[in-house]
Amino acid sequence: MGNRTPPLVMGHEFAGTVVEVGEGVNENLVGRTVAVNPLSSDGTCRLCRAGLANLCSDRTLIDIHHPGGFAELARAPVANVYPLPEGFSGGARVGALAELLANGVHAVRLRGPGEAVEHTVVIGAGTIGLMCLQAAVLGGIPNVAVVEPHEARREQALGLGAHAAYSSGAECREALEEHTEGLGPDLVIDAVGAKATRRMAIEELVRPGGRVVMVGLHDDATTLGFHGVVRGQISIQGSYAYTARDYEQALEWLVDGRAGIGELPPVLVTCLVFSGLMHLDVLSDVAGNETIVHGLLECLTQEGQQELYGPRRKPGLQFGGAELSDVVRGQGLELVSSQGWD
Ligand SMILES: [Zn+2]
Repeated sequence: MGNRTPPLVMGHEFAGTVVEVGEGVNENLVGRTVAVNPLSSDGTCRLCRAGLANLCSDRTLIDIHHPGGFAELARAPVANVYPLPEGFSGGARVGALAELLANGVHAVRLRGPGEAVEHTVVIGAGTIGLMCLQAAVLGGIPNVAVVEPHEARREQALGLGAHAAYSSGAECREALEEHTEGLGPDLVIDAVGAKATRRMAIEELVRPGGRVVMVGLHDDATTLGFHGVVRGQISIQGSYAYTARDYEQALEWLVDGRAGIGELPPVLVTCLVFSGLMHLDVLSDVAGNETIVHGLLECLTQEGQQELYGPRRKPGLQFGGAELSDVVRGQGLELVSSQGWD
C-alpha cells in the first residue's frame, strides 16, 4: 500500500447523506443517502475504450488521490454517486459495502467467455473473500467453497451462501476429489494474496486448464513452481478493483438483499473493524495519528472486542514511545495477523 502520501484522510468504502451539491447538479440529491464509487477514470483513453476503465492510467481514487470517507464530510463526483432507494432500510451501512462487493463481481467476471465453471474455491473469508464468494454464487456458479482457517469466518461464509467451507487447502482438495474426477476446482479466487495462499491456489487446488484469479495483495514477491503452470496450462489472472458496471451490479444485489455481510456487532464497532482497523498498519504510517489509534483501541475495548487485526504486520513499530503491540495488549486486546495465514 505504498501509494498513499500523508497527510491524507483515507476511506474508500463509504456511503453517506448528501448535504450539498455543486453547480449544475440536481438539488434533489440533497438529503438522499448515497453509495459512492470512489474510482474515476478519464473515459477516453485506449484502456477505457476497451472496457478496462479500472486500469486507466489517469484513474483516481477517493482515499488515495482525494480525501476519503473517514471524515464528517467528503466530496465525490456526481457521476460516482448512487442514491439508494427512498426508504431503503439498509441505509448507508449497506451502501458502504458496494465497493467491496464490486471487487468480487469483477473477479468472478474475469473468467473467459464460455469458460465453464462448475466448481469454484475462494481462499480467505475476510470481507473481500465473503464478497467474492457471494459474487460467485449470485453469478451462477453452482458449487462455491471457501478455504479459511478461522472457524467463525467459515461459519460466516456458510451463512452467506458458501456450499462448503474448509479449514485448509488439503482438506478442500480431498473433499473436491470425488466431485471433480480427482482434478480440483475450475476456478480459484485468492482473496488473501499471501505467499501460502498463492501456492495453495496454483500448486494445490486448481485443475489442469483452470484459472486462478488473484485479488489479495498481502505479499508481493512469491516463489511458485512454474513447471506445473506450464504443463497444467493454468491461467493466472490478476484482478484490480472494478468497473462502473461491476459496481452497479454489486449495489443492485445489496439493495435487493441478495448479498450482504450477515450479522454484525453494533454500528460503531462495525465501522471501526470493517474500515479502520483492517488498515491500522496503514493508519500508523500517517503522521500525527496517535490520537486516532488510541481512540480506536479504547472504543474497541469498551465494546467488548477482544481481537485487533493488523499491527503484527509491522513488528517493532513504535507508538507514543512504546511498541505498538504492547500498547494494544495494554488495552486487553489480542493481536491477530491481518489475515491469519502466517
Ligand atoms: Zn482511461
